[in-house]
Amino acid sequence: MKYISTRGQAPALSFEDVVLTGLAPDGGLYLPETLPQFSKEEIASWAGLSYQDLAFNVMKPFVAGAISDADFKAIIAKAYETFRHDAIAPLVQTAHNEWILELFQGPTLAFKDFALQFLGHLLDHLLKKRNQKVVVMGATSGDTGSAAIEGCRRCDNIDIFILHPHNRVSDVQRRQMTTVLAPNVFNLALEGNFDDCQNMVKASFGDQSFLPEGRQLVAVNSINWARIMAQIVYYFYAGLALGSPHRPVAFSVPTGNFGDIFAGYLAKKMGLPIDQLVIGTNSNDILHRCISSNDHSKHQLQHTLSPSMDIMVSSNFERMLFDLYDRDGNAIRQLMDDFKSGSMTLKESALSRARKLFTSYGVSDELTINVIRDVFERTGYLLDPHTAIGVEAARKTRRRQDIPMVCLATAHPAKFPEAVRKAGQDEDPVLPHHMKDLFQREERFTVLPQELKKVQEFIAANVRK
Ligand SMILES: *Cc1c(COP(=O)(O)O)cnc(C)c1O
Repeated sequence: MKYISTRGQAPALSFEDVVLTGLAPDGGLYLPETLPQFSKEEIASWAGLSYQDLAFNVMKPFVAGAISDADFKAIIAKAYETFRHDAIAPLVQTAHNEWILELFQGPTLAFKDFALQFLGHLLDHLLKKRNQKVVVMGATSGDTGSAAIEGCRRCDNIDIFILHPHNRVSDVQRRQMTTVLAPNVFNLALEGNFDDCQNMVKASFGDQSFLPEGRQLVAVNSINWARIMAQIVYYFYAGLALGSPHRPVAFSVPTGNFGDIFAGYLAKKMGLPIDQLVIGTNSNDILHRCISSNDHSKHQLQHTLSPSMDIMVSSNFERMLFDLYDRDGNAIRQLMDDFKSGSMTLKESALSRARKLFTSYGVSDELTINVIRDVFERTGYLLDPHTAIGVEAARKTRRRQDIPMVCLATAHPAKFPEAVRKAGQDEDPVLPHHMKDLFQREERFTVLPQELKKVQEFIAANVRK
């Protein structure tokens, strides 16, 4: 399968090359040239499969020709053996026809493990085959960094450098990164904010001459296609568990960069009968404003109780726009050019198409807390603040009560004790067993000034031979 850029001017890439790169040279994001389509009969025949076997069936067409079946099965097996629950993505019922899909059973307690455990093993396999070593560089305000580190810590051919804003990530999130003492893991605490971190990563991808001979940077943020691909699987898994393909389902997704919900859109296009996709945002609501009133303009960043969704712009929305504009790369290039001024307007046909696919809702911190409290009082089930946003957005915009609504639980509540306490819990939620000693573990990180040259010198000096 070939992969093309949303801006239409970069050469098509193979699966291997698309995994080992970042943005396309024309500034776009890569997508498969055609999507695999599964018939109703084929999807029905997958009922009862384990998560791993289903993952193999759903993702196989994307990697066809690049990885043998046996190797691909082994990669999937390794990716999900670190999950604490045998179901990998268990469903819990919280109301009539309302379900929570627990995507936080992986090593770092957030859904990003689904993609990054997989990506780590995938990269390891591809790099060993090519006898190549790479440098992973990324910026994090929280969940991505720890999931990426957990994904890459055992990869011989990767050195990973993760930048986080010094003193500006939560204790749990920082410790999940800095207590991994593997020799290929480097945590850089930057004296700046998240945007400064991200700008340094962007600049480094743009000019990689600071790296030792023969090394290149690989992106592990959600612009990496393999992450999106791995996330398609759990939509099928939940759908099958609730009677699809014979019965339609709906999903509600707490949304930041639009990676997770975009995977749901792809699952629909591939044949899963998804009736509605709900975009839940916090007060950083550019996507909600875009869908509800065609206002896709940058507002100032708000710091909320759901920090993993604190973004000004959703990078993966460009992939969605590409389809809404009939895959016209020129139109996307024009649109993104307009957006440099801080705002863009969708054409009417694109907007109405988006409104058929998605509903959206923006949830304030106050409402988030109320939802956590309400669901706990009714069911005894404790939501994390991100998940609560999805639940509320679903309740507010649901089209049909007779179709099961699956709310994606993107993090474990123990990761966000502040929100949980505000919702009236007397005690902090308990960290799962494998993390009980997180606050006793030794930390290792390097504080660096906000200077690109210093950061790049550090990386060049620490890349292993
Ligand atoms: C990353 C993250 C999100 C947002 O996911 P996107 O794919 O960026 O839309 C939501 N919740 C949690 C807990 C996350 O870590």
